[in-house]
Amino acid sequence: ISEAEQAVLDEIEAQDVDFLRLQFTDILGTVKNVAVPARQAEKAFTEGIYFDGSSIEGFVRIQESDMRLVPDPDTFAILPWRNDEDSAAARMICDVYDTSTDEPFEGDPRRVLKNALERAEEMGYTVNAAPEPEFFLFEEDEEGRATTETNDAGGYFDVAPKDLASDVRRDIIYGLEEMGFEIEASHHEVAEGQHEINFTYDDALATADNVATFRTVVRAIAAQHDYHATFMPKPIPRINGSGMHTHLSLFTEDGENAFHDEDDEFNLSEEAHAFTAGILEHAPAITAVANPTVNSYKRLVPGYEAPVYVAWSDRNRSALIRKPAARVPAASRIELRSPDPSCNPYLAFAAMIHAGLDGIEQDLDCPDPVRENIYEFDEQKRDEYGIETLPSNLGQAVDALEEDEAIYNALGEHVAPKFVEAKRQEFEEYLVDVSQWELDRYLETF
Ligand code: GLU
Ligand code: MG
Ligand code: MG
Repeated sequence: ISEAEQAVLDEIEAQDVDFLRLQFTDILGTVKNVAVPARQAEKAFTEGIYFDGSSIEGFVRIQESDMRLVPDPDTFAILPWRNDEDSAAARMICDVYDTSTDEPFEGDPRRVLKNALERAEEMGYTVNAAPEPEFFLFEEDEEGRATTETNDAGGYFDVAPKDLASDVRRDIIYGLEEMGFEIEASHHEVAEGQHEINFTYDDALATADNVATFRTVVRAIAAQHDYHATFMPKPIPRINGSGMHTHLSLFTEDGENAFHDEDDEFNLSEEAHAFTAGILEHAPAITAVANPTVNSYKRLVPGYEAPVYVAWSDRNRSALIRKPAARVPAASRIELRSPDPSCNPYLAFAAMIHAGLDGIEQDLDCPDPVRENIYEFDEQKRDEYGIETLPSNLGQAVDALEEDEAIYNALGEHVAPKFVEAKRQEFEEYLVDVSQWELDRYLETF
C-alpha cells in the first residue's frame, strides 16, 4: 500500500467517513458509482472491487462481465453535501481493470485519455487543459421535476438582484472548493438563467476528472436549493446554448510552455500552430465526440457565440479556435470553442489531443487566422478563405468520425465501434420522432 493510499486511510479515520463511493464513467460520460463501507478501503486499494461490467453502457457482453475497480488515491474527496458531524461520505475515481487479463480495460474512457497522454509523453509533452463549462439553472415544478423556466432575467456579468441565482452559485463554489477545486471566476452568462464557473487548469487527466465531478456537484447543490441544473447544450431555442470551451497547451518535461514563442506574431510556437492545424484538420470527427447529442447541433448554429465554421482567430469568437490573450508565457494556449458539457470529457480530450499531436507529427501547416465575423460570410466568401463547416447534425458527425482513421483509432478498438453504434441509434431514434415544432407547424395546417 502506497503513501498516497495510506494518507487516504488516515483521512477516512480522521473525518469519520463511513461510505466510499467508487466512481468511473461509461462511454457516454455518465458517472457511475458503487458505494462500499469505508472499512473496505484498504481492500479496494490492494485487491480492487469487483463489479458486473455488462450493465454499464458500452462496456462488455454478459459472458465476460467481471470487471475490477481500482481507486486512484489522488482523487479522494469528501462529498460536501453528505458531510455531517459524525459521519461523511467520500468518493474516489477509479481505473477499470479487465479481470480476465488483469490489464487496464481498454473500454474505460479514463484509459482512453491516458493513452492519449502517453502518446504526448512519448513526444516529450505533458498536456494542460482548462474547461469553461456553462449550465442553466431551472425551476422545478411541484413534483420536483425540471422545467425550462428560469426565475432570473439576468444577462452577461449581471449582479444581484437581477442575478437571483448568485446564492446557489456561491454554494456551488463552496462545495467545489471543499472538494479541492481552485475556482478562478464565476459569472452570469449571456442567457437568462445561464451560468459559468471556471476552475484552474491542470493536467488533462485531472481536468477530465474535475469535469465529471463538477457536473455532479453542480447538480447536487442546485437540487438542495430546489433548482435543476442542466448541462444540456441548448435547452431553450433562439438564445445562447451552453458550451464547454476547452483551453489546451503542451508543456515540456522541464515545465516550459511549448506553446509559447515570444517572437511569433501571436506568441504561439511552431508546435502550437501545428497542433491547431491538427485540430482544424480533424474538426468534423472531433465534433462527434465533443458534441455527442442530437441537441448539441442546435447549439452549433450561427449567431449565438458557438462555432460553426472551421477556422481559428486571435480576435473573434465566431471561430472554432481562438487564441486568448496571454499575459505571461505560461498562459499561451489555444481555446477550442466547439465542445459542449454533454460530452464525455475523457473521450473528448483524448480526441482533441490526438488531433493536435497528429498535426505536430505531420508538421501540418496552420492557415491564417480569420479576423472578421465568420457568421456574416456567405458561402462564396467561405470558399475563398477555404473555410469548412462543422457537421450540422449528429448523423453527419458520426459519419465524419468513421471516416477519420486517426480520431476513430484514438478512441481505441473497444470504445470506437461502441460509441458509433450508440450514437447512430440515438440519431435514428430522433429521426423517427415527431417533435412539438412539427405539431405546432403542421397539425392544424394540413
Ligand atoms: N454560450 C456560448 C457557447 O455556446 C459561449 C459564450 C462565451 O463566449 O462564453 O459556446
Ligand atoms: Mg462562457
Ligand atoms: Mg471561453
